[in-house]
Amino acid sequence: MRKKDSDCPIYVTRPLLPDRKEYYKKVNEVFDSGFLTNQGAQLQQFEKALREFLHVTHVMAFCNGTLALQLACKALDLKGEVITTPFTFPATTHAISWNGLTPVFCDIEPDTFNINPDKIEALITDNTSAILPVHVFGNPCRVYEINQIAKKHNLKVIYDAAHAFGVEINGQPIGSFGDISMFSFHATKSFNTLEGGALTFNDAALADKLFYLKNFGIKSETEVVSIGTNAKMNELQAAFGLLVLDKINEEIQKRKELTKQYRERLKNIPGLRCLHDIEGVKHNYQYFPIIIDETKAGFSRNDIYEELKKYKVYSRKYFYPLASQVTCYRELTSASKGGLPVAERITQSILCLPLYGELPIPVVARIAEIIISLSGRPILKGRVSKDY
Ligand SMILES: *Cc1c(COP(=O)(O)O)cnc(C)c1O
Repeated sequence: MRKKDSDCPIYVTRPLLPDRKEYYKKVNEVFDSGFLTNQGAQLQQFEKALREFLHVTHVMAFCNGTLALQLACKALDLKGEVITTPFTFPATTHAISWNGLTPVFCDIEPDTFNINPDKIEALITDNTSAILPVHVFGNPCRVYEINQIAKKHNLKVIYDAAHAFGVEINGQPIGSFGDISMFSFHATKSFNTLEGGALTFNDAALADKLFYLKNFGIKSETEVVSIGTNAKMNELQAAFGLLVLDKINEEIQKRKELTKQYRERLKNIPGLRCLHDIEGVKHNYQYFPIIIDETKAGFSRNDIYEELKKYKVYSRKYFYPLASQVTCYRELTSASKGGLPVAERITQSILCLPLYGELPIPVVARIAEIIISLSGRPILKGRVSKDY
């Protein structure tokens, strides 16, 4: 049994779960079938349902998003350098590195925190083979400009759409842009299969390639046609996904209402900025980030983080540190401090507040009150960081 909401710590998210009884029924189906993995009936149904939900030509499910992204790079046969964003979860950069490719970090935009297309071309060299942007927090990248740059320089585009499940731009599904898009179905993402992920793509020729890559390169009982690994989604994950898919639209609606509540309650705090809906974009409300300009607010991102913790509210500093600042990448030329001024500023001033469908509105109100109480403090000279 769950404890009463008032006793529970509030985390940044809570996984969306299927109805237990329905899931037990599915588990029985899987047990009765004798197939636990390897393209069983649940997986086939799940991929079909996903294709319909995401409105894309091809969908392939994987055991997680990271391996899916790694195999996307492999399937496109990338070489040399890949231009990417530092403002992401380390998995994005690792997927590049695991392929023996060099990540090249490009600065981001101050409004969406996505890769800044105006800064991409200066980073293109003879060794560049692809651009790997992230639709951070589910806000779409400037896909049309990125597409133009890629065309002009003959580069592939792989989107890390881990946060962007269900997002559309002017009625066009987010997974239809670029050569391949990756979605993560990790438990912390709005749509989840416990762990899991998928790739979407338009080129039919990629389907076989990707299938072999996730299945040891095996084509038939006697043929191994390429190198491969094991990145298959199992039947219990797929069954879970089928049931969660039925609930995702309602979840997104609830998150939309909670987002509205946060925005309304936090709108008049000097130095505190919320994101807003972008015209023509169907959002999924995957996260609720706020940006704090310490010089104007008189308190910092870290102050809010610490204050909320006292009330057992656990916000998260996504994305801090930058992917370019972790030990394995910080020595790269493109990671150098000063080269990524917007990313450096955002990573110091961003905080993601709790957001999930089951979050009660009174808790949102309480979180907003705690933040507002900080703004009552006098501005102390020594607290203002000099590099903002
Ligand atoms: C969650 C996430 C991933 C990794 O997905 P997994 O399914 O956990 O492997 C990759 N990129 C971003 C931006 C993510 O947030």
